[in-house]
Amino acid sequence: MLDLPRPTPTCTSFQTTTEMRCIKCNDRMKLVLIEPRDGKLNLLTYRCNGCAAHESFLKAI
Ligand SMILES: [Zn+2]
Repeated sequence: MLDLPRPTPTCTSFQTTTEMRCIKCNDRMKLVLIEPRDGKLNLLTYRCNGCAAHESFLKAI
């Protein structure tokens, strides 16, 4: 594995979805940003509808 700079992802493997639950308030989170990382990973950023928290996840392409 390459030693990637990781933006403290909460999780590195999860089901492909555009919806997920906020870990803070359990409201729905919406996918707001996808950033490619090194050709093998995408950084997905979700924003919570309830508390406006942001969560980022690394996902294999
Ligand atoms: Zn929330």
